[in-house]
Amino acid sequence: MSTAYDPGNIFAKILRGEIPAEKVYEDDDTLAFMDVMPQAEGHTLVIPKSPSRGFLDADPEVLARLIKVAQRVGRAVKTAFEADGLSVFQYNEPAGGQTVFHLHVHLVPRREGVPLKRHEGGMADKDVLARHAERIRAALRQE
Ligand code: 5GP
Repeated sequence: MSTAYDPGNIFAKILRGEIPAEKVYEDDDTLAFMDVMPQAEGHTLVIPKSPSRGFLDADPEVLARLIKVAQRVGRAVKTAFEADGLSVFQYNEPAGGQTVFHLHVHLVPRREGVPLKRHEGGMADKDVLARHAERIRAALRQE
């Protein structure tokens, strides 16, 4: 299996505007948007705009910028969903649980005693995702 970066991956298409995404944050280097198959309400993904397949091939400077944004958006996600906690996941290669081969960080707000839904379970309703994204954008505006 090739481990080269494939620009045909779904997140590269989102970055090029070829497919839609419910965006919550964007700057010159980074984009955050709702996961279409959330493991909990508010499940958000943060990606660098530069192409790397995962954690291991990324430029450390890219990782540093990504994690700063992930923390900022993570705080907003936790606030927006009045969560008790936040799970932060990052998977590499199929054996590591990765299914989309453009580096991304998962931010999943958690409630006490509520288990995660299955990874890549059902698709969320488009309007629900739009409302959830707006909650996160509102929390970011209130920083
Ligand atoms: P991975 O397993 O690679 O860490 O996670 C990829 C994530 O991307 C999964 O949680 C999956 O639900 C999400 N995902 C897959 N396709 C799309 C898509 O087209 N749009 C968005 N917003 N998320 C996607």
